[in-house]
Amino acid sequence: MVKRIELALTPEQAETEFNLRPLISRKLSVSKNEINSYRVIKKSIDARSKNVKIRLQLVAYVGEEQPPIEKFNTNFKNVANAEPVYIIGAGPAGLFAALSFLEAGLKPVIIERGKDVRDRRRDLAIINREGLVNPNSNYCFGEGGAGTYSDGKLYTRSNKRGNVNRVLELFVHFGADENILINAHPHIGTNKLPGIITEMRQCIIDHGGEIHFNTILKDIEVLNNEIKSISLAKINEDNTLGAEEKIATNKLLLATGHSARDVYHILDKNNIEIESKDFALGVRVEHPQSMVDKIQYSCNTRSKYLPPASYSLTYTKNENSVYSFCMCPGGIIAPASTMPNEIVVNGWSPSKRNNPFANSGMVVNVGLNDFKDFKKHNALQGMYFQSSIEQKAYTMGGGNLKAPAQTTSDFVNNSLSNSLPSCSYVPGVHAVDLHELLPENIKITLRDALKHFDKKMKGFISSESIMVGVESRTSSPVRIPRDRETFMHTKVKGLFPCAEGAGYAGGIVSAAIDGQKCAESITKFVNS
Ligand SMILES: Cc1cc2nc3c(=O)[nH]c(=O)nc-3n(C[C@H](O)[C@H](O)[C@H](O)COP(=O)(O)OP(=O)(O)OC[C@H]3O[C@@H](n4cnc5c(N)ncnc54)[C@H](O)[C@@H]3O)c2cc1C
Repeated sequence: MVKRIELALTPEQAETEFNLRPLISRKLSVSKNEINSYRVIKKSIDARSKNVKIRLQLVAYVGEEQPPIEKFNTNFKNVANAEPVYIIGAGPAGLFAALSFLEAGLKPVIIERGKDVRDRRRDLAIINREGLVNPNSNYCFGEGGAGTYSDGKLYTRSNKRGNVNRVLELFVHFGADENILINAHPHIGTNKLPGIITEMRQCIIDHGGEIHFNTILKDIEVLNNEIKSISLAKINEDNTLGAEEKIATNKLLLATGHSARDVYHILDKNNIEIESKDFALGVRVEHPQSMVDKIQYSCNTRSKYLPPASYSLTYTKNENSVYSFCMCPGGIIAPASTMPNEIVVNGWSPSKRNNPFANSGMVVNVGLNDFKDFKKHNALQGMYFQSSIEQKAYTMGGGNLKAPAQTTSDFVNNSLSNSLPSCSYVPGVHAVDLHELLPENIKITLRDALKHFDKKMKGFISSESIMVGVESRTSSPVRIPRDRETFMHTKVKGLFPCAEGAGYAGGIVSAAIDGQKCAESITKFVNS
């Protein structure tokens, strides 16, 4: 008999009881000896009541043997002499597409403007230490894309479990902890991601694929509605460009992420159809982690058997909605700007989530109504709106990547903060009235939302919690339209707009899945 059951354990039991047979036998009213084996398939934390529970979903084999578990398999072929497919961007979408091409027998050639993970780290240190942003190597650009120095949370709203599982299995194949396969909220951590990305790169190269770092896509040639060629240029150490090289190709996987504004300009200039898209914009909110633990776990001090607590909040009024985004328990607020004169914040955390702060994006949906002043930019109006607020944030912060900030209590009470609590954002924060930075609609909605959140999580509004501006790169402000079936651009044959930059994915796992799907479609295109 195969039984699927759920056990609710105390956090201590979940950490210390390695033999669950007694609990399973009680639950199933069978003797311990009858339980041949069992397997945990899902683990989640239930903090809805005062007594926090760890819920385990298990499959128990009673009076019968567990069949051998199907081993995860890869089928990477040597593609050194196979037909090349150009992939622009080595983010999760580009890398997972490349791995799919190895399995399909096509040769991935990845073009990446940024540096490899090791060299990229030096540029991140300069951003944090000196407030200087390299426009080609930063928290968004470089090997692994925005995913490498991210938090590495691997949850997704995608409900196609098969696809999600394959992505998670590949992460484990390249070095991630197996726990990500059972945790309801899998997380890798910024410290572990670079090693995993390096292993992926090695696999691509070992099987005959290519990755060209410090190389930028400068142009796309389209003739009679078909891709004809791409122009690439080497990026020198001082960010000047080498001579452009034109490469003939009839197919292109474009996975450049949502921060590559130059790529949207290339498409626009070449009359390749793009559309303005809604996105979300707001601030990052940070609390002491101990405060979030206290609220969420209804305790004075978090039990050593529980991880730092998280939250997920939403608020809707009329057509406006506010939601917490990319919540990082035990995390750090990151300077995610891609140009020197703008402030963009995001968040990350190490695998142990052991920093004293908890941060989260708190963002409001924005659309055409909000972009009115930028209407003349047509499909790029959302992007110009986004950029104008990021630049204003830079000016209000006072330079050197200092970010404008206010306590949540002062924001709600409409008063300037006399002093700011400590904050994890390394370049530093500068007290401002965020009402002067944020558009009317965003500030009013955010204020109402904070009051609502404070009712759900008593103490959310406080002089100890800080709002840091601006969280503006939640999703792309531009969509590159594509066919639902073929994933090809609706007007340009051979162009495959992929993942977050195309407006079809958000987050590491969904970008990776989109990369795989685009690779599948290109394979069909090649074989047709
Ligand atoms: C600090 C931070 C934390 C995050 N935390 C999480 C998290 O915990 N969980 C989660 O799911 N998501 C997280 N995200 C978001 C996630 O990283 C992205 O959703 C994901 O990386 C998008 O994947 P992508 O492949 O579509 O694009 P990207 O990862 O943006 O990759 C695009 C790549 O294209 C390259 N490129 C751009 N233009 C050109 C050009 N002209 N020529 C050549 N190359 C070019 C860029 O350098 C980049 O490497 C985080 C992001 C940041 C910045």
